[in-house]
Amino acid sequence: MNYYIYQNWQANGMSYTIHKWNCGYCHCGYGMHQNIERGANGVWIGPFNTLQLAQHYFGIIEVPIDQRHECNCCYN
Ligand SMILES: [Zn+2]
Repeated sequence: MNYYIYQNWQANGMSYTIHKWNCGYCHCGYGMHQNIERGANGVWIGPFNTLQLAQHYFGIIEVPIDQRHECNCCYN
């Protein structure tokens, strides 16, 4: 069970969202919009073996609290 973080710098400033590998949005880090140029709007970071490790990474790279998000898929 792997988790990925999507770092997005287009929508409302910088944001980081954790997704589970099987989320319809992240598809193992590939993203749902295959035709969008990789790295144009954001990048995928991961995989992380656990949700806790992904959350821990936020602390390592010092992501501000208000930029940390978790997709609902993480808890399904
Ligand atoms: Zn998700």
